[in-house]
Amino acid sequence: MSITIKSKSELAIMREAGRITCGAIWYAGERLKPGMTTKEVDDLIGKFYREHGCKSAFKGLYGFPGNACISVNEEVIHGIPKASRRLKEGDIVSIDTGAAYKGFNGDSCWTFPVGKISDEAKALLEVTEASLWEGIKMAQAGNRVGDISHAVEEYCASRGYGIVRNYCGHGIGREVHESPEVPNWGRAGHGPRLVSGMTICIEPMINVKGDDVRSLKDGWTVVTKSGSLSAHFEHAIAITPDGPVVLTQP
Ligand code: MG
Ligand code: MG
Repeated sequence: MSITIKSKSELAIMREAGRITCGAIWYAGERLKPGMTTKEVDDLIGKFYREHGCKSAFKGLYGFPGNACISVNEEVIHGIPKASRRLKEGDIVSIDTGAAYKGFNGDSCWTFPVGKISDEAKALLEVTEASLWEGIKMAQAGNRVGDISHAVEEYCASRGYGIVRNYCGHGIGREVHESPEVPNWGRAGHGPRLVSGMTICIEPMINVKGDDVRSLKDGWTVVTKSGSLSAHFEHAIAITPDGPVVLTQP
């Protein structure tokens, strides 16, 4: 599908979808504790959406069964919420979800610690979040997608982290996944030109060790090939004449 340009009124709806998405992620993220199942985390997301008069855009998307993708430790993305999966002290948990609101979608992800986490995990979360903001800085009208990609890659690779290459960010709007693709690696000055009114998701997926990932037999969950920890941070952004506007924040 082609790149869609949103009007001011459409951007206002997307901002609201983003606000609710962020609310849901933090509502669940602040309640994580050892012993909780990932299904219980997903139920919190569903409850938050219901209370805000909307639904999860993820539920049923390509047949996904949950309100959110919940990925723990070496799981990179697309973890299925399960009543059999219990969180424990020291885990890191990515909550990836989006609200479907008035015909538009949110999409954001944040990786949270459960209790006290290792220094290795803490550093991974810091670097991955920081790389997201490096990417966002480059989301300026007139720049190219490759400027974002390069900024994320440069920040993480120079610190020795692995960058997931099989999955990437994307345009967003009436569909959760629109054009263009927004990879987390690439060459500055290359790729589609960024134009005011475009809305895109930037979402670094960063591994402690190695770039490679594989899919589990459940057909959804993607894990690091090395077995190392992985983190995922994502915001939906609007390209505007005044610079990038983060849609998925309070
Ligand atoms: Mg997402
Ligand atoms: Mg996304």
